[in-house]
Amino acid sequence: MENKKFKFKCIKCNQLSETENFCDCGNKYYSFKTLEYDYEKIGKNGIDFWDCSKGFEKYLPLLPCKEINLTLGEGNTPLLKLNNYGKKSGYNNLYLKDETTNPTGSFKDRETAIITNYAKEKGYDKFLITSSGNAAVSAAAYSNIAGITCDCYVPEDTSSGKKHLLSIFGAKLITQPGEYEEIYRRLIDEEVRTLIDEAEDRCEKILKKHADLLETISEDLLEKENMTGEEFNAYFDAKA
Ligand SMILES: [Zn+2]
Repeated sequence: MENKKFKFKCIKCNQLSETENFCDCGNKYYSFKTLEYDYEKIGKNGIDFWDCSKGFEKYLPLLPCKEINLTLGEGNTPLLKLNNYGKKSGYNNLYLKDETTNPTGSFKDRETAIITNYAKEKGYDKFLITSSGNAAVSAAAYSNIAGITCDCYVPEDTSSGKKHLLSIFGAKLITQPGEYEEIYRRLIDEEVRTLIDEAEDRCEKILKKHADLLETISEDLLEKENMTGEEFNAYFDAKA
């Protein structure tokens, strides 16, 4: 499906693509793709930055998802003026954006809400995340309301409190040896590769089924309509 708002751009080779899949240059770790917006298209609709009633929904022209249907009430967090601390620090206008009032207590809920809505629109049914902190708790909570499975890859020494919190939201915990970076790389190299292989295998099977079906229909048509092979091809070319 063509993305109307932006293209994905590989941060290593600058190659543009329509999908978020791994780039064929081999770059696959961390933020391996950034976004290249078509500001002309976005500008036609515009964004009303001053509309405070909509939360981050007003940024939809810039977001990957079409709508924000799944929400836990994230965003619109209070902006507090720190009068005393500000004076002590030499600032007259010092403000604090209190992100702890987000549903799971961190700013991660903003991005997770967007990712969850995007995943739902794309029909994804699984989140894989390497984290035992705020990001994992947030992913677990949002996947729970979306009916998406959430597998959290956490270091072996993760505290029982954090593990308990993740399990409350129904996330599957997979403890792994090593530090975050090691687990992250293993997840991409092994688990994600396996999922891609499985998905490709599924696609191949579906295509094979469709091909078999088309073959059956073709044979029926040839027989019923008394068509020659050439007439049959011309019939389908005209339909295409
Ligand atoms: Zn690349």
